[in-house]
Amino acid sequence: MTWHPPRDLVERYAQGRLDPVLTMSVESHLARCPACRAAVPYEEEWLTASWERIEDLVDRPRQRLATRLLCRFGVPEHVAVFLAATPALARGWLVAMAGVLGFAVAAARLSAQDGAGAADALIPFLVAAPLLPLAGIAAAYGRHVDPAYELQAATPLAGWRALLLRALAVLCCAVALTGAATPLLPGPPGLAAAWLLPALALTAAALALSTRFAPPVSVAALAAAWSGAVAAGPLLASDLLLAFSPGAQALYALAAPALLALVYLRRARLDPGETR
Ligand SMILES: [Zn+2]
Repeated sequence: MTWHPPRDLVERYAQGRLDPVLTMSVESHLARCPACRAAVPYEEEWLTASWERIEDLVDRPRQRLATRLLCRFGVPEHVAVFLAATPALARGWLVAMAGVLGFAVAAARLSAQDGAGAADALIPFLVAAPLLPLAGIAAAYGRHVDPAYELQAATPLAGWRALLLRALAVLCCAVALTGAATPLLPGPPGLAAAWLLPALALTAAALALSTRFAPPVSVAALAAAWSGAVAAGPLLASDLLLAFSPGAQALYALAAPALLALVYLRRARLDPGETR
């Protein structure tokens, strides 16, 4: 090596007084030159501890809690890792879902206290609950929502299997959270649970539409349709709860399996990455 950085440059580097460009060039030299490296003082203990922490991260990645839980319930490890990385199941999403449910429950309890009919008080909750899994599906899998998409797009799990698997996980999570919130609602328990069938039907519809359009587009269209359907009750039949009536529930119960059958038949078109 014919060139070495002048001593004052190395000194200023050690004091952290160099701009980023000079820092990088000094560092790239130090990496290759033991003589100059010896001139830079360092704390041996700190360096050892630092390396240990890096090795700990690189060599022994700690499994996330969700992965460990899924494995305990018999899910194969590669599937568990994939599910735990679902963007729509990240901690922020779960907190947001819990927040929406908490607000809806609080609103229902407050308006029931104010003397509104228990049925009317439930409406915000009933309208919001089916939208939660729907929003989760939009952010479950795909080029635009999953930072690890490119990585696993080349794996055998990619494509429709991945989307369906994650959609199922998102649905289970949303249903579990909403189900946990339901007993906290005022009013008749039967009505409080009226969100379940619309949630299943809308999820199935989102997947069915995703065989044609990108999941976020399908989900946005369905969210608009759902809001329209709920608003149609008071407009057409002056019944605020028309979208949750027994007749409507029967419709959801019929639609969900039919749509899921359609999804299964058209599953090969469910890869949101390659075709759009
Ligand atoms: Zn040197």
